[in-house]
Amino acid sequence: MFQSSELIASLSTSIAELHGAPQPENALPSEEALTHARGALLQHLPSAGVGLEATLKHLREDIVPGFSASSRSSNYYGFVTGGTTPAAGLADNLVTAYDQNVGVHLPKETVATNVEDRALSLLCELLKLDPMSWPHRIFTTGATASNVVGLACGREYVITEAAAVRSDSETSVGEIGIFEAMHRAGIDKMQILTTVPHSSLSKAASILGMGRASIKLVGLEGSTHRFDIPLLKKLLTQPGTASIVAISASEVNTGLFATTGLKEMQEIRSLCDQYGAWIHVDGAFGIMGRILNSPNHASLISACEGLDLADSITGDGHKLLNVPYDCGFFFSRHREIASRVFQNPNAAYLSAGGDTDIMSPLNIGLENSRRLRALPVYSSLIAYGSDGYRDMLERQIGLARGIAGFLLDSEDFELLPEFTGSRADVLNNIYIIVLFKAKDEGLNKELVDRIKATYKIQLSGTAWEGKPACRFAVSNWKADVKRDLPVIKQVLDQVVATWKSEK
Ligand SMILES: *Cc1c(COP(=O)(O)O)cnc(C)c1O
Repeated sequence: MFQSSELIASLSTSIAELHGAPQPENALPSEEALTHARGALLQHLPSAGVGLEATLKHLREDIVPGFSASSRSSNYYGFVTGGTTPAAGLADNLVTAYDQNVGVHLPKETVATNVEDRALSLLCELLKLDPMSWPHRIFTTGATASNVVGLACGREYVITEAAAVRSDSETSVGEIGIFEAMHRAGIDKMQILTTVPHSSLSKAASILGMGRASIKLVGLEGSTHRFDIPLLKKLLTQPGTASIVAISASEVNTGLFATTGLKEMQEIRSLCDQYGAWIHVDGAFGIMGRILNSPNHASLISACEGLDLADSITGDGHKLLNVPYDCGFFFSRHREIASRVFQNPNAAYLSAGGDTDIMSPLNIGLENSRRLRALPVYSSLIAYGSDGYRDMLERQIGLARGIAGFLLDSEDFELLPEFTGSRADVLNNIYIIVLFKAKDEGLNKELVDRIKATYKIQLSGTAWEGKPACRFAVSNWKADVKRDLPVIKQVLDQVVATWKSEK
């Protein structure tokens, strides 16, 4: 079945690595490894190829040592990387070996679209979303792409809603374009109302012709991640303006959720219904909070309640679902909007055969030809089940809270954002992200670099209220409080001790 024994050899090597390889000790490659890898890259295309064996040797010996531990290791806390579960990794190798194209639903030729459809409905089940209520479901390349899809659907919807009040002529943006549709709908402005948005939301707004400037922050003063509801209402009522409300369900710097519970979501939903607005939830990693069920996680559980009142939801597969890059997902309640935006028109040879309850992915998503990125998701979901995923997430939250607790007790560090309330309240709001700074301003400026220079752990630098800050994002299924927390504490203690000894 495989093309060649070499392919099998290379696949089994990576499979063995997934199963048995010890954790890489270093979170980052050494400078020498990086320099070596860069220098070893072939400058020019060889006319006679170097062959498979030499290529494999080059990959293993020159290039791979220049990779960061990234998702292979749980000592990598930069960005929100996610790992790869063994089940997802094995399936991903099969995806490559069998190279299915999941563009068109061809039930007589391949089961690929059924796998995708089932993976998406299992995912709905995991996230306590009724698959019947979310008929537009699609895998994407990541949360950025899902946000593009979400805003595209929202744009189509809000302009159509506004136009319906004035006339019954065609106003689909997908058909007549944004200028004409807005003109016919009597709209001269589009706005995206949100709090602490991920940067990819601005990018999506730019791609879709709404513009980065259409993003309007409606956060509460002093609690910018929360909605200022009166302000939201005021902006929604502006005449000649169509609105999308974007909810940051776990924000990337702090992990905080924009909404606190069902009541708040109901209030936002009813405002949006009144003014024809679309609600998009960016839950890239936050949406996974819906699988929690323990009293320890009560405030996270509450923050995830009512997210199902949205029109569309973004999620990332390659973050907390712990499947390989590139994998995101998107759910929307509006099947007809999906076709209006993404219909790939007039290509008879691409039409689906057989039953039509599975829509051809090319008519409801960005790409035409695409990888079977559903298979790793399907495999990982069935291998570990909802309990397995809950256990993974609980371990990750446990580690984040362990780090936060250590920082709260420390004389040298400060947990951010500034908070009021008890220690228990603060810890109960910690999800998988821990933002902090060093109290000593001098050390704080160098903190990220000094932590990275230990090579033991990797985290991201960011800015908070105009000052440098550090951020742990725990997002690996391997997270283990007993093993990982002591390493983190030791690194932070060591960095402080070294700083003090130099003074
Ligand atoms: C990571 C992230 C994104 C972008 O996701 P990619 O997978 O990098 O495309 C969008 N929104 C939020 C909240 C994120 O955390």
